[in-house]
Amino acid sequence: MDYAKRQRVFHIKAGCTAQGAPGISAEAASLPVYRTEAIGSSVVVALAELENLQQAHELIRAGLRLSIIRGMTRIGTRTLRQWWKDVHGVKPSNGKLPETVLSFIKDRDSAARLSAFAALHQRIFASDLTTTSLMTTWREYQRICGPLDINAAYFAARDVRVKIVMLVQCQVCNAAFIYDAGSKHTDHCPFCETRVVVAD
Ligand SMILES: [Zn+2]
Repeated sequence: MDYAKRQRVFHIKAGCTAQGAPGISAEAASLPVYRTEAIGSSVVVALAELENLQQAHELIRAGLRLSIIRGMTRIGTRTLRQWWKDVHGVKPSNGKLPETVLSFIKDRDSAARLSAFAALHQRIFASDLTTTSLMTTWREYQRICGPLDINAAYFAARDVRVKIVMLVQCQVCNAAFIYDAGSKHTDHCPFCETRVVVAD
C-alpha cells in the first residue's frame, strides 16, 4: 500500500480527514480547486448526516427500540447497539416488537394517554412521521402530561398515520381518541366513556 493510500485508510478509520473536516476525503482535500456548488452540496450532505446521527442518539437516550431507530435513520445495527450500550450500560433488548399500538393500550388510562399523544402528533405534524416529529411531540407531551413510553408513542403515531387504527373525535367531549372496534378499551371515548358508533 503506498503512502497516500495508507494515509487515507488511516483518516477514514480515525473518522476524520487530512484537514480534520468531516465529510471530505483526503483526495478531495488535497485538490487545489473546488467548484463552489460541490462544496455547498457536500456540506449539506455532511450536515444532514450529522443531524441524522444526533437524532439517532437522542432516540436511543429516549429508549426507542433499535429496529425502529434503524428503520428511521438507516444507521447500521452494530453502531446502534454499541451506542445503546454506551448510553444505558446494558445490551439492547432483542425481544419481538409489538405489532400495533393496541398492545400498549391495556386500560382506560393508557387509551387516554396514547390518544392524546396521537392527536398532538397529528395536530403538529399532520401525517409526517420522522425522527424530528416523534422527538418533538414526545418532549412536548411529556412536558405537559408526564412520562410516556416512546415506543408506545411511536406506534400510536404510526398506526394512526397508516390507518391501522382511527383517530376519531368524540361527539360529546370533542376529544380525539384512538378508535378500534376490536378492543374494549378503544371502542369508546377514554375521556368521557361515550360509546361511539362510527359510520363506515
Ligand atoms: Zn368523550
